[in-house]
Amino acid sequence: MRHERIERLKRKKNAIILAHNYQRPEVQDIAEFVGDSLELARRAMETTADIIIFCGVDFMAETAAILNPDKKVLIPDVCAICPMAQQLTQEILRAAKQEHPDAEVVLYVNTRAESKVYADCICTSANAREIVQAMNASTILFGPDRNLAYYVQKSTSKKIIPVPEHGNCPSHHQIAFEDLLQAKAEHPTAKVIVHPECIPEVQDRADYIASTSGMVKICKELEDEEFVIGTEVGLLHRLEKEAPGKRFYPLSTTAICPQMKMPTLAKIEAALEHEEPEVVLSPEVMEKARKPIERMLELS
Ligand code: SF4
Repeated sequence: MRHERIERLKRKKNAIILAHNYQRPEVQDIAEFVGDSLELARRAMETTADIIIFCGVDFMAETAAILNPDKKVLIPDVCAICPMAQQLTQEILRAAKQEHPDAEVVLYVNTRAESKVYADCICTSANAREIVQAMNASTILFGPDRNLAYYVQKSTSKKIIPVPEHGNCPSHHQIAFEDLLQAKAEHPTAKVIVHPECIPEVQDRADYIASTSGMVKICKELEDEEFVIGTEVGLLHRLEKEAPGKRFYPLSTTAICPQMKMPTLAKIEAALEHEEPEVVLSPEVMEKARKPIERMLELS
């Protein structure tokens, strides 16, 4: 059985599996820990394992590797590349910095390591508001998600400039205002919780806006029994496990990130067996990208 073989390999090689909330249910079930980007980064730092199998997308595995230079970080499928992270290039960042020399740069963790080297601080959706508020400058270059930038702008008098201008996560950006109206009509007593990567019209009509870890917390703590969840559908598996008896409805059944679904049990087994593909970054990028990540961990 594949499950048993994976468990045996994990023990033999002192490896752990970290999985993002959007992973396939069977991948979440075999992981030592399931969480959002911030939680996974912290877990990666705490582990005493020699090998981390990172079931997520490229930038997450890179972050784990940057924070753990002495560990081997493996990504089961190298094609699991976040399309939003790809939207922010070094050229775009350099041009924005040149245009706004007094601004500080806050980048969403959903960026490639080579972009992170330009950041003053990294943030996640769970701490973006707090991080921006803690910065010294009154103007912040914020990228790559303009919907998250909108969410942050509502809580601060600082000027937030989205970089690039129209960056977005395709899986969240496609959730339409009409989806929200329909969900409210179909589930009139359910609380609607959406991710800040959703478009402003959806954010503005939701009951709560939260990161995936925030969503789990809200659903567990509230006495309500029905929730409409506006994020990638993979989170529903975790919600159903951690808040049994409650009912969860996806705000959009098409909010599926294909890249997040790339790691499979077969690929995890192969990665453990052969100890590849390994995340490899240049020492210079590792060092420069580590500083803004560590600053985030200190501030949040
Ligand atoms: S859900 Fe969006 S931000 Fe997350 S990996 Fe997929 S495309 Fe990137």
